[in-house]
Amino acid sequence: MSDKIKVIAFYDERMLDHKPDIEVPFLPGRMDRRVRKLLSAMNVPWAYPEHAGRLTTIRHLLELEPVPGLEFETGKAATREQLGRVHTSSYLDHMYELRDHNAWLDVDTTAVSPGSIEAAEVAAGTSIAAIEAVLEGRTESAFALVRPPGHHAEPVRARGFCLFNNVAVAAAHAKSELGCERILIVDWDAHHANGTQDIFWADPDVMLFDIHRASPFYPGTGNLEDVGVGMGEGTTVNVPMPAGAGDQAYLKAFREILIPAVDFFQPNLILVSAGFDPHGFDLALNVSYEGFAAMTGILQDLARQHCNGRLVFVLEGGYHLLSLSHGVKTVLEVLAGGAVPEPGIAGVAEVEAAAAFHLPAFQQEDEE
Ligand SMILES: [Zn+2]
Repeated sequence: MSDKIKVIAFYDERMLDHKPDIEVPFLPGRMDRRVRKLLSAMNVPWAYPEHAGRLTTIRHLLELEPVPGLEFETGKAATREQLGRVHTSSYLDHMYELRDHNAWLDVDTTAVSPGSIEAAEVAAGTSIAAIEAVLEGRTESAFALVRPPGHHAEPVRARGFCLFNNVAVAAAHAKSELGCERILIVDWDAHHANGTQDIFWADPDVMLFDIHRASPFYPGTGNLEDVGVGMGEGTTVNVPMPAGAGDQAYLKAFREILIPAVDFFQPNLILVSAGFDPHGFDLALNVSYEGFAAMTGILQDLARQHCNGRLVFVLEGGYHLLSLSHGVKTVLEVLAGGAVPEPGIAGVAEVEAAAAFHLPAFQQEDEE
């Protein structure tokens, strides 16, 4: 094995077959009109922003500009038993009945097409494949490039483009099959992980640290005071952000809240629900590529300190294809051992060079 740090990205083309056809009316007339009106009010009238191009764009960028040390592996489908650790059996029955159908599942735009159920099984199973690779010691870190995303999916409900809760299925598997006693999930997607929070709300063995755009931004959950219940009180850590919050605020939250939380919790494995919609191009927040890189660097340090480096990323949202694909690439570069760029200094060296170039012209007259 070379001394280069290896990182494995998991990718599976079956996830491209989830393509809800929004032109087909799925519901009785009145309901259909209501859903379309809601979509239109959300400014996504007739396009489904969570589409297969999200994954293919990432894949193409990584082929065009390969990350040294990055390898690809194919994913796999999750079993009913694996999904059943976080979803109810009636929910799974309902989802399996939708195999090979077109349907709307929820008013907030979660729809399925004939290939969707298999795509969702593969998204969850591929997240499991990523943690297995890390826990088997085949790689220090891994990134499950999956869709449909998962963190809004609740035990009994599909929501916000999410069918099965991929990161929760992976965490539950790590706990029940792979000997992880305590698991940390860090969710930096712009939207709060209502589903992940629900699933582990009373679980003292899974800590959720979630930094997100504050309510009433979708899905409207994740208040500061929501800290879990019973044995799980204190293992839900919400950090709501105002519109436009960026690198400085995110890194402050990581350094001043996440690091002490991890020192206290002592996880055996760190999972990251990585959405790239906090990037400025998705308009809700203002995290830069350097910001994503710096957060990844902190997580890598924490993983090395507490869990032999075991760090697994699972893709969540991110709808602007440029910031999504470049954001993923930036994270992979850090995981593969690349330097962590300092946020906010893009252009500073150029300004210094420009100053050195221009200033003598302004000084000449004084000297004469
Ligand atoms: Zn999101």
